[in-house]
Amino acid sequence: MSVRFDVIVVGAALNGLVAGLALGGHRAKRPLSVAIVDSRDPCQSISADNDARASAITASSRRMLEALGVWDHVGQQAQAMREIIVTDGAGHGDRPVLLQFGEGESSACMVENRHMLAGLLAAVETSPNITLVTGHGVTEQNFAPGLAKLKLANGAQFSCSLVIAADGGKSASREAAHIELVGWAYEQMGIVASFDHELPHNGRAEEHFTPVGPFAILPLLGNRSSIVWTKGTVEAKRLLSLTAPDFEIELQNEIGGHLGKITLIGKPQGYPLSMFFAKEFHGPRLALVGDAAHVIHPLAGLGLNLGLRDVAALAECVADAHALGQDIGGLAVLERYSTWRRFDTVATAASMDGFNRLFSNDISLLRILRDIGLRATNQLTGLKQVFAREAAGQTGSLPRLLRGDNI
Ligand SMILES: Cc1cc2nc3c(=O)[nH]c(=O)nc-3n(C[C@H](O)[C@H](O)[C@H](O)COP(=O)(O)OP(=O)(O)OC[C@H]3O[C@@H](n4cnc5c(N)ncnc54)[C@H](O)[C@@H]3O)c2cc1C
Repeated sequence: MSVRFDVIVVGAALNGLVAGLALGGHRAKRPLSVAIVDSRDPCQSISADNDARASAITASSRRMLEALGVWDHVGQQAQAMREIIVTDGAGHGDRPVLLQFGEGESSACMVENRHMLAGLLAAVETSPNITLVTGHGVTEQNFAPGLAKLKLANGAQFSCSLVIAADGGKSASREAAHIELVGWAYEQMGIVASFDHELPHNGRAEEHFTPVGPFAILPLLGNRSSIVWTKGTVEAKRLLSLTAPDFEIELQNEIGGHLGKITLIGKPQGYPLSMFFAKEFHGPRLALVGDAAHVIHPLAGLGLNLGLRDVAALAECVADAHALGQDIGGLAVLERYSTWRRFDTVATAASMDGFNRLFSNDISLLRILRDIGLRATNQLTGLKQVFAREAAGQTGSLPRLLRGDNI
């Protein structure tokens, strides 16, 4: 006997929880009945030891979290990015600044993922139309015409009109629907760590394009910062195997002295980096969102923001169909969603890949400028435009949730 919902979201991490709230949350105008299913208990991730990542949240993503009633909680933990500098990262410490964004050009802020997760879970708890089922993964999925049926590891059976796959880069839902991927793995890992420092960061985010990959220093609340330190896989594994004091020495050397002495918080974590996107963003009664649909290089901190744009667009397509009494998991809804999101995703993924390839090499800045002159300048201007458009929330056709309107 299966339990029936309008929508089942597979994956209760950031994109999955936002998808559930957009369609069934306490702020939804016509809430649908939603189940959010995860093999893990998301509460366990509300610790820096489990997910040390922090995300740059753009203005439009923030408006969406406000509309969903989550920002009151999350905003208390947000650090405004008052300034962003981009440098040629050859060498250590002080590096020549190539590009700078001042106050007003970047209205993004940094939030640790664990705080975002806590705020989303609190909002889910106050949403009577959402059922959160954790600790049992989806093991079988049957996308039959008319109805999708899911079976969990504990034998529970659910059915629904629409499955939203928010189950990450290794999405089993995507595989079950035989949706292929296009992309590649980088021979790089992103090392993520947080640290206390003696001197204030003044809200400044730094992106250093080192010859082996981008190195980002991102401001958190207080005298704390987070890094995404891209290294070749072998070197990353060496760094991750160091003791905390030895890691601190190497990190301090990489950062230089402008933040004073640093002290590591928690254990550094490594993420293998890749870039791919799904050939289709939908299958029968199935829509892919977030990392299930695409994974991009984290150099501009846009991955989650792209996922939130998927969720906002999908939720709008579903809500519009629901308001008109149409089939919320029907082909017309799914095709409208895919068409809306694919171009933006592929364009963003391709430009992040281009920046990474252009700068992750051992050619000095002078050589880059001499050899490819205008191209480098144009790429940097392009990067600035990507940031600026993102910060202003102007990228692509903006769904209502990203403008701050409820659906
Ligand atoms: C180093 C690094 C730094 C980053 N920095 C930024 C940044 O600054 N800004 C930004 O916007 N983005 C950033 N990103 C990208 C961002 O972190 C991801 O895009 C985002 O977290 C993806 O979230 P998700 O919910 O789609 O997937 P995930 O977080 O992967 O969650 C998937 C969920 O599905 C569950 N699941 C999997 N399989 C099953 C199953 N069979 N049944 C049930 N549940 C299942 C998992 O348990 C998990 O909870 C960064 C990424 C990296 C690697």
